[in-house]
Amino acid sequence: MGDVLIIAEYEGGKLKGYSRELASKAVELATQAGGKAQGVVVGKNVAQAAEELGQFGIAKATAIEGVDLEPYRGEAYTKVLFELIQKIKPQIVLASASNLGKDVLPRLAMKCKGGLATDCIDLKIEGGKLKAKRPIFAGKALVDVDFLSDIQFATARPNSFATKVVDASKKAEVEKVQASVGELRVKVKEVKEAEKGLKDLTEAEIIVAGGRALGSNENFKIIRELAEVLGATVGASRAAVDAGYISHDHQVGQTGKTVNPKLYIACGISGAIQHLAGMRTSKVIVAINKDPEAPIFSKADYGIVGDLFTLLPILTRKFKELLGK
Ligand SMILES: Cc1cc2nc3c(=O)[nH]c(=O)nc-3n(C[C@H](O)[C@H](O)[C@H](O)COP(=O)(O)OP(=O)(O)OC[C@H]3O[C@@H](n4cnc5c(N)ncnc54)[C@H](O)[C@@H]3O)c2cc1C
Repeated sequence: MGDVLIIAEYEGGKLKGYSRELASKAVELATQAGGKAQGVVVGKNVAQAAEELGQFGIAKATAIEGVDLEPYRGEAYTKVLFELIQKIKPQIVLASASNLGKDVLPRLAMKCKGGLATDCIDLKIEGGKLKAKRPIFAGKALVDVDFLSDIQFATARPNSFATKVVDASKKAEVEKVQASVGELRVKVKEVKEAEKGLKDLTEAEIIVAGGRALGSNENFKIIRELAEVLGATVGASRAAVDAGYISHDHQVGQTGKTVNPKLYIACGISGAIQHLAGMRTSKVIVAINKDPEAPIFSKADYGIVGDLFTLLPILTRKFKELLGK
């Protein structure tokens, strides 16, 4: 008992940032629980990503590969991960609150008859079991979750924990498993790739985000132009997403993504609590809003009161000059 299993994710053969931070947390929890941290990566050519877990102090990892595992289907992942859990019997199973984690962990928790806490922002061991902290009521309150089950499942919000590299040259010992899941009920007809060239919001160092004030999909061009000059990823408020100005994968906040960039530029975003819940930990926040009373200014390090349609083209031009682009 006391072992912690993390379901890690990868992109381009490398571990995702949120899996790296979760690996560090898993090692901390396993030490407190008197067990070991283990990792698993599922997909195609995942051995290298599984080895990478060693950097964070995870000694053993499993790389599950198979033709049925790409493209992603929750049913297939659940099947192979359930088999692994039955084999290695961890006390705690962790995943990031990513699309994959949100889809697979509830399925696994049901199959294993374990409790599940989702979207956690803190995890610790108390009384030998996992204790999870998670936001409720759209981020207005936090609740501590205790588990009654012997096996405990949790998904963690990206950017909630510090990534601690124990030894950058260390590789985890990887057991390769060739899996075949057979007939599945879901068939993937098409996979549409997200916009190329931009980092995912959860991994971005700079984010330029637009709100309802943009008024249309076409007007978002001025956000994209500034983002391009800065090498930034485009974010959005829920109001902008709901109005159809931009797709949901750009949404920051309670029902969007939690981000932690070095620089967050909020343009025409009022600063509702549900938006702040997703970006308040950004290192430097710049707000551009024509209303000097907008709540976003109370969280901003720098604020510009003015019309974004006038200000953004000026900023883009000035940054172009400064950066020699
Ligand atoms: C359960 C729940 C979950 C939610 N989850 C999220 C979430 O994940 N993310 C999220 O963002 N919201 C979320 N919301 C919605 C949230 O409450 C707000 O409605 C939303 O964030 C408002 O978006 P906004 O700031 O773009 O729009 P508004 O609140 O309408 O603000 C627009 C701002 O633009 C300014 N402005 C207007 N014109 C200009 C101009 N020309 N130049 C400069 N400034 C201008 C205005 O002064 C105003 O401050 C959620 C709500 C609920 C109830």
